[in-house]
Amino acid sequence: MTDDRPAPIPRTADVRPRVAVSSCLMGEPVRYNAGHCRHRFLTDELSPYVDYVHVCPEMEIGLGAPRPTLRLVNAESGVRLRVRDGGADHTDAVTALADRRSADLPDLDGWILKSRSPTCGTRGVPRHLENGMPADRRGQGVFAARLAELRPLLPIEEDGRLNDPVLRDHFVARVFAHARLRALFAGAWAPRDLVAFHSAHKLQMLAHDPARYREAGRVVADAGSRPRDELAAAYTKVFSEAFAVRPRRGRHVNAMLHLFAPMSRRLDDVRRRDVADVIDAYGRGDVPLDVPMTLLRHHARGEDITYLDAQTYFEPYPPALN
Ligand code: SF4
Repeated sequence: MTDDRPAPIPRTADVRPRVAVSSCLMGEPVRYNAGHCRHRFLTDELSPYVDYVHVCPEMEIGLGAPRPTLRLVNAESGVRLRVRDGGADHTDAVTALADRRSADLPDLDGWILKSRSPTCGTRGVPRHLENGMPADRRGQGVFAARLAELRPLLPIEEDGRLNDPVLRDHFVARVFAHARLRALFAGAWAPRDLVAFHSAHKLQMLAHDPARYREAGRVVADAGSRPRDELAAAYTKVFSEAFAVRPRRGRHVNAMLHLFAPMSRRLDDVRRRDVADVIDAYGRGDVPLDVPMTLLRHHARGEDITYLDAQTYFEPYPPALN
């Protein structure tokens, strides 16, 4: 007997990403001075849509709050995480903690870490020489560096960059894409479900990385002839790499033109010209992305074009986060 149920393709509204976050950003008094640095986007805006796991590496290795400050030191043996002025070295403890936390949390969709911290910062962290003099500002926190090494495909971002609307949009879209894929593979999926999933992500992937969209298509084309685990791993890799690329204006225009093509023949001349003009205006930078997207969504629904309406491009994350 054949199973002809509809493919269970997770939509944005069906998933609740699991995101690990530096505890101090959630308002916990765990910083070196027993303070915090609560980030309102995380605590007030994103929190209704995700499940957080709070992590403070320095507290978890047994340092209390308040505590002496740590810094990155360029030592002979490599970059070390040490208490200022020649104190204890916590590099190995924090690295081992990153290994444990990464293994304990296999079902994450992203990390959000505190910027500029010698433990959690993902970039631009000050490094010092052994004599205490400043060396440069190109370091990466020891915990953050190890996480990136262990799970290179997982979205990782830091709080400061989330204040930039473009970077925030990209990170949140990546997290929700990761959560949809994780939901698909967590269920009793069949190769045809992966085909439908890939099809629903076509326009969004084109906006991020057209070459990897095509590469993912080749993975999907082999769906029936590979072991499921191998297929899932291959698709996850290329899908995650595609979403790691930030969409540029030209790629959005390209994706919107793909969207527009099947609906244009159903529209009369006036409406067709309206849509084309608005896409052009976005391409020139005269209007924000929302303007053509709202019009395209309106026509996809109005013309009842199911294939287009199912595209994740229209709702990469919950609309309230826009
Ligand atoms: S930056 Fe990281 S280690 Fe420092 S207080 Fe925040 S969570 Fe803890």
